[in-house]
Amino acid sequence: MMSIPVYADLAHVHDHAVQADGAFDETIHGILALKASRVRVEIRVVLQAQTVRRLPELAHFIARNLLFVDHVALMGLEPTGFARANMDSIWADPLDYADQLREAVRILSDAGLRTSIYNSQLCVLSPEVRPFARRSISDWKQTYLPECETCEVRSDCAGFFATVTYARSRGITPISRSLAPYA
Ligand code: SF4
Repeated sequence: MMSIPVYADLAHVHDHAVQADGAFDETIHGILALKASRVRVEIRVVLQAQTVRRLPELAHFIARNLLFVDHVALMGLEPTGFARANMDSIWADPLDYADQLREAVRILSDAGLRTSIYNSQLCVLSPEVRPFARRSISDWKQTYLPECETCEVRSDCAGFFATVTYARSRGITPISRSLAPYA
């Protein structure tokens, strides 16, 4: 499976995110060419401050134009390369785009697209989308906070990238399975 980032439904927003004119058109053509060659394709939507407001519009774009892809991954930022150097300007608190994320997941899943949320903590997701969250951070990169000690869903939660200590949501709160079922 080839994993291909698509940052936005608008060409100029995607091009700005990757700092390359024409990148959006090349990316969409590339996805079409891969599928025409029967290659499995995963679209990776990186959840970053500059693009999260238009998540529902991007979900509509994918559902209308790229319904044939094999998986859509909505991905919290991983602190590597460009993202690591610019984490403070591109990270957004998941609480601030929870509505857009919930709507995007609804649009994608209603369209029949296999959809996952990676690199996000369960407690900062709306209960409706928690079943789409995966424990995606490898054990050797992962850590938890003191608040997680009493959390009853910790074994299912992706936790945090250990190498970044500041990109932490203000909404980290232990979950009780009995009070807030998550799946
Ligand atoms: S409290 Fe910690 S373990 Fe529990 S859902 Fe939140 S981040 Fe995950």
